[in-house]
Amino acid sequence: MSFRIPDVPAKRIVVVGGGFGGLQLCTTLVKNPEFQVVLIDKNNFHQFPPLIYQIATAGLQVSSIAFPFRKMFAGSKNFFYRMCELRSVHTKERYIQTSIGKLSYDYLVIATGTTTNYFGNQKLQEESMPMKTISESLGLRNALLTTFERANTTSSPEERAELLNVVIVGGGPTGVEIAGALAEMRQHVLPQDYPDLDTSLFKIHLVQGGSRLLPAMSETASAAALKYLTQMGVDVQLKAYVHDYKQHEVILRDGRSFKSQTIIWVCGVTGRRINGIDDKFYGPGNRLIVDRFNKVEGLDNVFAVGDCALMKTHVYPKGHPQMAQAAIQQGKNLGQNFLRKEHGQILKPFEYRDLGSMATIGRNKAVADIAGMNLTGFVAWFLWMGVHLMSILGVKNKISTLVDWAWSYITYDKSNRTLIAVKHPKVILERNYEISMRHWGELSLEQAAEAERLTDTALKKSNDDAALKAQADLARNALKKAERLLNEIAAEDLARAQEQQKAQAQEQEQAQALSSKVQEAMANAKSQEQAQANAQAQAQAQAQADGQAQALEQEKAQEDAQAQAQESAQAQAIASRVQETLAKAQANDQAAKVAKSATQVIVANNEVAAAEAKTNVKKASLKQVKSSKRTATKK
Ligand SMILES: Cc1cc2nc3c(=O)[nH]c(=O)nc-3n(C[C@H](O)[C@H](O)[C@H](O)COP(=O)(O)OP(=O)(O)OC[C@H]3O[C@@H](n4cnc5c(N)ncnc54)[C@H](O)[C@@H]3O)c2cc1C
Repeated sequence: MSFRIPDVPAKRIVVVGGGFGGLQLCTTLVKNPEFQVVLIDKNNFHQFPPLIYQIATAGLQVSSIAFPFRKMFAGSKNFFYRMCELRSVHTKERYIQTSIGKLSYDYLVIATGTTTNYFGNQKLQEESMPMKTISESLGLRNALLTTFERANTTSSPEERAELLNVVIVGGGPTGVEIAGALAEMRQHVLPQDYPDLDTSLFKIHLVQGGSRLLPAMSETASAAALKYLTQMGVDVQLKAYVHDYKQHEVILRDGRSFKSQTIIWVCGVTGRRINGIDDKFYGPGNRLIVDRFNKVEGLDNVFAVGDCALMKTHVYPKGHPQMAQAAIQQGKNLGQNFLRKEHGQILKPFEYRDLGSMATIGRNKAVADIAGMNLTGFVAWFLWMGVHLMSILGVKNKISTLVDWAWSYITYDKSNRTLIAVKHPKVILERNYEISMRHWGELSLEQAAEAERLTDTALKKSNDDAALKAQADLARNALKKAERLLNEIAAEDLARAQEQQKAQAQEQEQAQALSSKVQEAMANAKSQEQAQANAQAQAQAQAQADGQAQALEQEKAQEDAQAQAQESAQAQAIASRVQETLAKAQANDQAAKVAKSATQVIVANNEVAAAEAKTNVKKASLKQVKSSKRTATKK
């Protein structure tokens, strides 16, 4: 493999990276025969990052924001594009080493941008999904769509909740925009696509380390973004830092956590260090320190533009914002300076013209800080659309984007919801592997044979490595499976323990109920005993009272009997006196008869009185017997 680029008298400018900065530089220089422009990029297209989130949320098709370099520069005689990856820079010898070989330069421009910053957290790097490139956003779209499908079919409610719990880490423009787009998807798309899925389970958490969203924008913009997202049902967590992720749980530094299987990591970027460029040439954020002409300080003929360049100025002591406009303006100024230099003119130092910044949250909802104005709502949203539409390259792309947006605006639909996994044929996989093994350093002609041998050995080793890797993958999968099983067992154990706890609690409850019943019964018995004792006492008192009454009655009866006996004695005395009188008047029959009958009457009276007295005594003793019997029955 080689670059196959002709050697010509024109100065060769090698541009590494066809992003905003690199592309603008190429556009400025192309068609100027003083230079031969060679662009290398690992992708064969330029991408438009501001709309990447719309790929991830199925709003736009990839071709709307990706532009093939070869198409853009078709017909340019002094322009060459090569798809490869930069491996190292050799500044003394003025050449670069790439995945397809080496290439010499007169001027080298590094415009490699940045990569996602995980702040050294390996776990989150493996588990979360970044969204910095088109391929990453396609990966994210596939992951989201697969997640919805899985959530719809899983039989476990816990898994469904985890799948539908999305955690977005980073409250900058990207985090805010993806949160808003997902909230709109939840409202308008999911209920149509998944009528049998409870879409209210779809939760969106936006975790932001700082005290406000969109920290690079005005306070007005931050407050409006927070208001819009909250209205749209996004859970915004400010001053919250993601610390760890284990067993499907996102753990924040303050101990709070969310169960989730979908983490989107958009909380920062960092430059990439390049082999051959000493550490001393880098500033904070791994950015190459450049002067006002974008030349890397301390290195001859090496320049840097865009996100990877750190140009400290009076107004921007920490470097320019890592935004499209800074990259575009730097690329343009550097290109013009190359031409000025070639034409013997004075070089122009870079001056950044801040055109403002904006972010969209959803339909009719955006924020914009432009020309000293802080716009929000529909005006900002309309402006945002206009600016982005103008910035998209190519008329066809502008039209297709406009059509997609208009369609989505009218129908609330997002039409790019196909799940397409890329499958590479074996030949491509092998070729990619071979490329990844080759061209890692300078190879002299004398060393070619040795290199070939080494490469073959490396390839053989790589096969062995592949086998080892397969084994390792198997082991890792087995480990994961075992871990999952262990988790399941632990979950079952937990459920069992919970059930046991519940049963114990029930038993305890029953025992308590029983004991309170026993206590109640005991209290009842006691009160019954007490009542019995009271009744006994009462009965005794009654009996006593009854006894006294009977005694009185008996006494009275005896008194009556005595009185009657007295009366009868008196009557007997009278009768005997009468008899005496009768005896005295025996002669008189009449008198005798009268006396006789009187005597009979008196005797009869006496007998009656005696009989009555007897009856009264009997009655009194009968009453006493009855009363004694009653007392005995109560006891
Ligand atoms: C999701 C997202 C949204 C954004 N939204 C906005 C916005 O709304 N407004 C705004 O102003 N800015 C936005 N930005 C920031 C803006 O995209 C960047 O500031 C801008 O792209 C920087 O341009 P650049 O040329 O420095 O780098 P990039 O545009 O990142 O381009 C770098 C290029 O280098 C290539 N490359 C990298 N390493 C190598 C290598 N080793 N070998 C070969 N090629 C390599 C890459 O493939 C890429 O093409 C956003 C960024 C992202 C990620």
